[in-house]
Amino acid sequence: MLDFATLSRDFFSDIDTQPLKQPFLIHKNQALQDKLKLSIKGNELLNIASGEKKFQHTQPIASIYAGHQFGHFVPQLGDGRSCLIGQFQGIELSLKGAGQTPYSRGADGRAVLRSSIREYLCSIAMKGLNIPTTEVLTLVGSHSEVYRESIETGAIVMRTALSHIRFGHFELFASRGQTSQVKQLVDFVIEHYYQHCQGENQYVDFFNEVVQKMAIMIAHWQAQGFAHGVMNTDNMSILGLTIDYGPFGFLEAYNPQFICNHSDHEGRYAFNQQPNVALWNLSRLADSLSGLINAKQAKSVLDKYQNYLVESYSALMRQKFGLCEKDKQDNVLITQFFDILYQHKKDYTNSLRQLSDVDKLTIDIDFNDWIELYDKRISQENNRNRISMMNSVNPNYILRNYLAEVAIRKAEDNKDYTEIKILFDLLSKPFEVHQDMESYTYEAPDWAQGLAVSCSS
Ligand code: AMP
Ligand code: MG
Repeated sequence: MLDFATLSRDFFSDIDTQPLKQPFLIHKNQALQDKLKLSIKGNELLNIASGEKKFQHTQPIASIYAGHQFGHFVPQLGDGRSCLIGQFQGIELSLKGAGQTPYSRGADGRAVLRSSIREYLCSIAMKGLNIPTTEVLTLVGSHSEVYRESIETGAIVMRTALSHIRFGHFELFASRGQTSQVKQLVDFVIEHYYQHCQGENQYVDFFNEVVQKMAIMIAHWQAQGFAHGVMNTDNMSILGLTIDYGPFGFLEAYNPQFICNHSDHEGRYAFNQQPNVALWNLSRLADSLSGLINAKQAKSVLDKYQNYLVESYSALMRQKFGLCEKDKQDNVLITQFFDILYQHKKDYTNSLRQLSDVDKLTIDIDFNDWIELYDKRISQENNRNRISMMNSVNPNYILRNYLAEVAIRKAEDNKDYTEIKILFDLLSKPFEVHQDMESYTYEAPDWAQGLAVSCSS
């Protein structure tokens, strides 16, 4: 039984999933399945994960939402190719790519293999990096043809999350003036996910927590160099989870203006814009809640966003630089480090990882002067746990675009899924050093310099 389906019919439609042709399980997240204690295996799991069979007789549903896409309000979107198929231990199970729904707006309701591989791998990478995210349980491939710029094959990921509700769900009803539906939805979300928000200020408290969760998620994105690529309000989770993996990218050669989405010509969702965009998106959520919290209350909560963000980001950065005590000069030290990365096009992740092994960094002439300052600073603290602290936040492995691309090409061209398994294992434990896997820390080879990812998926 789906809690979401206890909302009134305005919020969703019943749907029939459209199974793929000759589906096969490419990979599953065993650790997640164990955590959920979900004991379905083999064919039964494949049947459910490919949309062939219902999960515990639950009626699949697609929900309706709206959203601001690239700053423009789109009055009606919805689960055009995803649906909720069940709930287990309070966790929603959702299929992405299981066919058309009433909200498909003429599109095919499918997801192609390449984008499903990217979602599968990135969600485990984010989980490995301790970033709040939806998690994918299964990746299913098929022989169904799907038409994009060329003919590709269809795939389905089974996403899981406590809830898949987005800002856009609130925006839809608010834009239609359906204030009682907005209230119904907020009450539902509080009752199920923000139970401690009680009493006369419960709506303000709820909004405050959403703002805080969003700030924490963004702080993690910025600290780990993750660019989402499509921060539309319909891709913003009310639980502060990273959701809807599309043309995302991790910073490689450090460039704060990095634009990962090839279709984002104006750089609205450039890496260094993400903190502002999240605040803008939260303001749109506040607009939708205007029947429950007034403008003054909303402003006072939104005003706290910056502090939440800075607090969380600074804590992460201090750890990444191995600093325990606060020193007024630390900001300068950190900024100087990033200036060197920018000027010399250094790799963001690898440079930070090498900070815990300064010997490696000192080989690099560009860092020489800076290392002297840094050495002085860390000797002030003489923290014996410094290296383990740093290595627990500076990953060895990130999902570089070229690594995903290699996995995709092998899967598409040769039906060879071994690379997916290798990356899955590395990315689920990105802070560890995996034996004989150093090549997976390498920067992009020449052939991958021009790789572009767009919204096509
Ligand atoms: P996205 O950019 O993937 O977040 O999608 C934006 C909106 O378009 C969402 O409402 C999706 O459900 C919908 N959508 C994207 N691709 C498809 C597709 N192939 N079929 C149906 N709906 C889609
Ligand atoms: Mg979306």
